[in-house]
Amino acid sequence: MNKRNIIFYVLLTLALTACGGASESAVNSEASVDPSKKFKWKMVTTWPANFPIFQEGAERFADDVRTMSNDRLDIHVYAGGELVPALQVFDAVSNGVVEMGHGSPYYWAGKVPEAQFFSSVPFGMTAKGMNAWLYNAGGLELWNEIYKPFNLMAFPMGNTGVQMGGWFNKQINSMADIKGLRMRIPGLGGKAFKKAGGNPVLMAGSEVYTALERGTIDATEWVGPFHDTRLGLNRAANYYYYPGWHEPGTVFELMINESKWSLLPKDLQKIVETAAAATSEWIYAQMEYHNQQALTELKTKQNVQILEFPEEVLSSFKQLTKQTLDEEAAASPAFKRVYDAYENFRANYAGWDELSEESYQASLRLE
Ligand code: CA
Repeated sequence: MNKRNIIFYVLLTLALTACGGASESAVNSEASVDPSKKFKWKMVTTWPANFPIFQEGAERFADDVRTMSNDRLDIHVYAGGELVPALQVFDAVSNGVVEMGHGSPYYWAGKVPEAQFFSSVPFGMTAKGMNAWLYNAGGLELWNEIYKPFNLMAFPMGNTGVQMGGWFNKQINSMADIKGLRMRIPGLGGKAFKKAGGNPVLMAGSEVYTALERGTIDATEWVGPFHDTRLGLNRAANYYYYPGWHEPGTVFELMINESKWSLLPKDLQKIVETAAAATSEWIYAQMEYHNQQALTELKTKQNVQILEFPEEVLSSFKQLTKQTLDEEAAASPAFKRVYDAYENFRANYAGWDELSEESYQASLRLE
C-alpha cells in the first residue's frame, strides 16, 4: 500500500468513525485486508514428536494451510515438550504465547471439567454422533462458549474411533476381577473404575509399557491395536479386551487464541477451518485403516487372547459411569449444562443410529 492509499484509508476510517457505528465493520471488512500480509504462527501439540497419525495430522494440517494460503499463513508445529510441556498447551494458547494447539479437551478436565464432553465420555457417542452434534446441533457453539473466558476457540481436528478396552495380565470374568486391579485409565472412565473397587493410576504414555511389563500396574488402556502394538503392549500382557467403553471415539481439537484469530483475514480463517475439517477426516480414516491392519497382525500372535468384556462387566461400568456423571453434574452447574445438552442430543440420535447403522450391522452377522 503506497503513502497516498494509506492517507486515503485513514481519512475513510475517520469519516466512518464520525458517522458512528459503521467504523468497526469497515475496519474488519475485506477491503481493509492487505493480501500481501504474511502470518507466522506457532502450534504446540500434546503429542510426542513423530507420534504416528496424531502429530502427523497436526503437521499435515500446517502443510495444507501453507499450500492453500500460498504461504500467507505459515504455521510451525512443535511436539509436546519441544516448546512447552504437553499438558501446558491449553495455557500457552490461552495466554497467546503461541497461536494454536492440538490435543484433546479432556486433558483440561482439571480446569474445565465440562470440556470432557467435547472429547469423549464413557458409553457416550462415537465419531459419527459427535460429528453430527458438534457441526450441526450446537455442540461446537457450546464448546466455543466454554472456551471463550480463556480467550480460546476450537475446531474438531481428529477422532481416534472406538478405542480398545485395554491390556490385562489376567482374565476379567466378573466385577470381582476388577477389585484391587491397578489400571492406567484416566478421566471419567477412571472414576467409574474406582467406584468398581479398582485402583486407577495416572501415568504418561511413555511409562506404560515398563509399568505393565514389571507388574507395577496390572492393566492399561491406551488407544487401539495400531498404537498399542507400536508401544509393545502385546509383549507386556496377554489379554486384550474390547470394547473401549471408556473412550468410544475421542475427538481431537485445534485450539486457537481468539485475539490472534480475529487478526486473520476472512479468507485465511476459512482456510484454517476447512483444513481442520479435512485433517479431522484424515486422522479418523488413518485410525480405522491402521487399526484393522494391526488387529489382523495381532491375531497371528500366539500369546495374545482378544476377548470381549462380559456383559455383566459392561453393564456395571455403564451404571457406575451414570453415577459418576450425575455426581459431577450435581456439583457443578457448568458441567450439568453441557451434560444436559450432550445427553439431549445423544438420546435422540440413538434412535436413528439404532434403526440405521446398528440394525444394518446386525444384519451382516446373519447367515
Ligand atoms: Ca485411551
